[in-house]
Amino acid sequence: MAPAVIPDNHQLHVFLFPVMAQSLIIPMVDVARLFAARGLKSTIITTPLNAMNVSKSVERDRLSGLNINVQIIPFPGVEAGLPEGIECLNEITSPEMMPKFFRAMDMVQEPFEKLLEEHRPDFVVAGMFLTWATESTAKFGIPRFVFHAANFFYLSAKESLRLHKPYETIRTDHTDENSSSLFVIPGLPDKIKMSTAQIPSHSESSNFFVEMKKKISESEVNSYGILVNSFYELEPAYAEHYKIVLGRKAWHIGPISLLNEHAADKAQRGKKSAIDEHYVLKWLDSKEPNSVLYVSFGSVSRVNDNQLLELAMGLESSGCSFIWVVRKIKKDDEERFLPTGFEERVKGRGLIIRDWAPQLLILDHQAVGGFMTHCGWNSVLESISAGVPMITWPMFADQFYNEIFITQVIKMGTPLGPKEHNWLDSKNVSLVKNDKIEMVVSWLMGDGEEAKDMRKRAKEISEMAKKSVEEGGSSYANLTNLIEEMRIYTNK
Ligand code: UDP
Repeated sequence: MAPAVIPDNHQLHVFLFPVMAQSLIIPMVDVARLFAARGLKSTIITTPLNAMNVSKSVERDRLSGLNINVQIIPFPGVEAGLPEGIECLNEITSPEMMPKFFRAMDMVQEPFEKLLEEHRPDFVVAGMFLTWATESTAKFGIPRFVFHAANFFYLSAKESLRLHKPYETIRTDHTDENSSSLFVIPGLPDKIKMSTAQIPSHSESSNFFVEMKKKISESEVNSYGILVNSFYELEPAYAEHYKIVLGRKAWHIGPISLLNEHAADKAQRGKKSAIDEHYVLKWLDSKEPNSVLYVSFGSVSRVNDNQLLELAMGLESSGCSFIWVVRKIKKDDEERFLPTGFEERVKGRGLIIRDWAPQLLILDHQAVGGFMTHCGWNSVLESISAGVPMITWPMFADQFYNEIFITQVIKMGTPLGPKEHNWLDSKNVSLVKNDKIEMVVSWLMGDGEEAKDMRKRAKEISEMAKKSVEEGGSSYANLTNLIEEMRIYTNK
């Protein structure tokens, strides 16, 4: 996408305040860059450690003449009871740390309001967990948008569950995935079945989560509108359902990651890659088109050693080429999951990247023909944009909804992962055995008719994604409409 820079004497100024988590900062920085590319002044608000990860792409845009900058505010983690140096949700290692992190995010309201007073931006885009931003912006008469790194299907299904609680009327026996723990999500355009095991249990039991969900919902309803990282053609029925049936004012402006056209932008999103991107590209260049499986479980998910061992064995026996991103649970953890001699045996066809990979660069390479993913929405949409079919392995949050969306709605992937929700504690989750992993990987990467059809569909959907962000496309037009609406609202 090459967004046009619209010369503008009365430049609109937008504040973008992402929730402090890798997967929420990454797309929001892209949104900031997108606004700047359309001639607006974009200011990203973030904390000192998180700012270090966004500065490179912002600097590149500044050098190319865009009006984009970063405004730093302190993060009161220690005051909220967190250990020193934690400014990002990805560093949370126990469920008890969660409320403390949210307390710290609440404490940022005051410095944020000072910035609003000082700079008076024309409008604000803030992440959904920053619920108080709706109230703060209202004090200054500034419209607030909620940014969702999610799709309309998830937003609609989640809202249906919140309103109708269909799971309450059924038995919650999770031992049999085909038993009565299945329920239909009421009121959706398709008949979508879900299992009680796929819903986060803490959402029903813990006061903290119940309260937080209520606040998110209220701040959304009271906000000016919602920005959704999706495109109309991907899920027209759900885009309509969310806007018309549920009555939410929403703009689809994605896939946002398609803004990154150049290798440097693709390689340097989020953290610094643990591997030289030129080496990865050279490695991929040596492979046949569609022959490499990319395996990554995002920036937060944790997989236990027993499961990683099964995964290693499954990948080895599949005979496929693969790039596997492995993150240890704690920095000083030993790596005990690789079978003896594994790296030697898969040399040349298996590339292991520790910690952080240049994901966009990898997915966009023609050698990549499959993505084993934890179904975080950014990763899913990046895969959709690149036309790469998926093997789904969800763990928590919206990931089970995304798995259903991929496998049942757009039919661009096949399921593999466990059937129960697990977050920060993967010890009690049922193990996916290596023979099943081998079978599913071989199926997706193989030459069977169904797999070929899925690859074809993936390429078609990817074309639609690209068109949507080009001039004249649905997401491009939506962003134009939003900017125009803000111009009228602010009289600029
Ligand atoms: N990502 C990356 N390299 C990695 C892991 C993740 O660039 O090694 C990026 C990925 O491209 C995506 C984001 O981090 O944009 C992860 O977001 P997602 O919603 O997929 O998952 P989460 O991290 O929230 O589980």
